[in-house]
Amino acid sequence: MRVLVIEDERRLAGTLADIIEEMGYGSAIRTDGIQGLDEAMTGIYDAIVLDVMLPGMNGFEILRQLRQAKIETPVLMLTARSELADRVEGLNSGADYYLTKPFEIPEFQACLRAVIRRQGQIIPEIKQFDDLSLSLTDGRLSCGSRSLVLSSKEKDIISLLFLNPQVPVSKEIIITKVWGFDSDAGDNNVEAYISFLRKKLTLLGSNVQITAQRRIGYRLEASHS
Ligand code: CA
Repeated sequence: MRVLVIEDERRLAGTLADIIEEMGYGSAIRTDGIQGLDEAMTGIYDAIVLDVMLPGMNGFEILRQLRQAKIETPVLMLTARSELADRVEGLNSGADYYLTKPFEIPEFQACLRAVIRRQGQIIPEIKQFDDLSLSLTDGRLSCGSRSLVLSSKEKDIISLLFLNPQVPVSKEIIITKVWGFDSDAGDNNVEAYISFLRKKLTLLGSNVQITAQRRIGYRLEASHS
C-alpha cells in the first residue's frame, strides 16, 4: 500500500508521512499542486491525502483533473475551517473523504483506513459527527445499529450542519442553500424541518443534538464529554 501526501505545510506533511508509515504503508510527499498532480497521475498509489490550498494548483482542481483522467485513487481531502465554502463545492467534485484541520491523529488514521478499505469501490460520501453518521448518497442517518432515511430537505439541512459542526449555520443560509435564493420559504419552514430532525435524532438515540443559538443559527452538539 502506498499513500501520496500532497500538502505544502512541510511539517504537517512530514508528520502525516510518519503516521502513514507507522500504519505499515509506504508514503511519498509532494508540496506543490502541479507536482502533486503529476505524481498522482501515475496511478501507483492506493490513496491520496490532498490539501486544498496549495501552491501551483488547488486540491479541488487536482481532484477534478484526476477524475477526468479516470484515475480513481481514493482521496482524503484536508480542509481548513476557513475553506467551508470551498468544501461545499468539493462535495460535488468526487472527493471521497473530508477531514477538517486541525484534526487528531486517531481521526486521521481512521479516515485513511476507511479510504484504503474502500479502494476500488464506488465510495458513498459519509459524514461523521460523534456517534452519528450521514450518507450523502442516500440520506441515511445512522447511530450504532439504528438508522433511518431522511427526506431530501432534511438531508440537505443536516448536511449543512455536518459540514462544520462547531460553526452555527444561520436560517438565511439554510433557506438559500436548501430552498434557493428566490423561494418563499421563511424561518418557520426551517424551524419545522429542524424539529423533524430533532425528533429523528431522539429516535436514533444519538448523543448529538441540534442546538439553536439565538440570532446566530443552528449547530450540532454532542451532549456527553
Ligand atoms: Ca495548504
